[in-house]
Amino acid sequence: MYRDRLELSGRVAVVTGGARGIGLAVVTALHEMGCAVVVADVLDEAGERSAASFRSGPAVSYRHLDVTDAAAVAGFFSGVAAEHGRLDVLVTSAGIANHQPSLQLPREAWERVLAVNATGTFWCAREALRHMRSGASVVAIGSMSGEIANAPQRQAAYNASKGAVHLAVKSLAVEFAGTGIRVNAVAPGYVGTELTREGIDPEWLAEWERRTPLGRLARPEEVASVVAFLASDAASYVTGSVVAVDGGYTAW
Ligand code: NDP
Repeated sequence: MYRDRLELSGRVAVVTGGARGIGLAVVTALHEMGCAVVVADVLDEAGERSAASFRSGPAVSYRHLDVTDAAAVAGFFSGVAAEHGRLDVLVTSAGIANHQPSLQLPREAWERVLAVNATGTFWCAREALRHMRSGASVVAIGSMSGEIANAPQRQAAYNASKGAVHLAVKSLAVEFAGTGIRVNAVAPGYVGTELTREGIDPEWLAEWERRTPLGRLARPEEVASVVAFLASDAASYVTGSVVAVDGGYTAW
């Protein structure tokens, strides 16, 4: 009975930001649990390549989607629902970071981070929810940065965007609870992906590890397995939760 509740055979999922990193690990986990997956990203070459690497099992396809384009988001989810006849799981992993100190942060950079991480997540969730039915599940990739201020790097825009994701998730969970659709977030600590390799000061890495009780960054699949649980019926009584996957970072 417990194993069956983790099964996702016959279901259809969308993973934004699924071309690489945490999103790609989520695609792999959902596919392994039996789900057909539509990968949505702006990194077209990586997205096409990632989707093509799934040679057996349920279909994995790639479609370009910029989550900041509201009209494109609406059209994308209508298209997926029309093509597959259902939408069971949405995982929002598209995201960007900015490490500029607040006094040097251009207004456009603040707005871009909020547009991708907060508005993009909400709009994708909103448009997906139009096509979901009882038993469906939305899982947003939030961050421990939605709960605490990052250090030593400065991330006011990123912190604000992830805080918004966490509260939007709680709000949607309450609003849609009566429909039988669940809405949750995971809040990872530092994860070894391009996002934590691009544009960082190498000294930050040692500091991140020092501040993490488990003493290391997470592997993307360690986040993906929690996402897959939340997407499944095994989490049928979990909604409105922000689940920490941070190696204990926020425990002290
Ligand atoms: P990656 O940069 O590896 O993957 C994110 C993907 O999202 C990239 O392919 C990126 O493309 C894409 N993307 C960016 N903007 C858009 C957009 N407007 N529309 C569609 N796709 C877009 O990052 P991670 O896998 O590390 O991060 C995934 C999520 O997890 C993010 O939301 C991030 O904030 C969150 N997270 C990451 C942590 C970490 O330590 N890595 C920790 C906690 C949370 P492009 O490369 O062109 O930007």
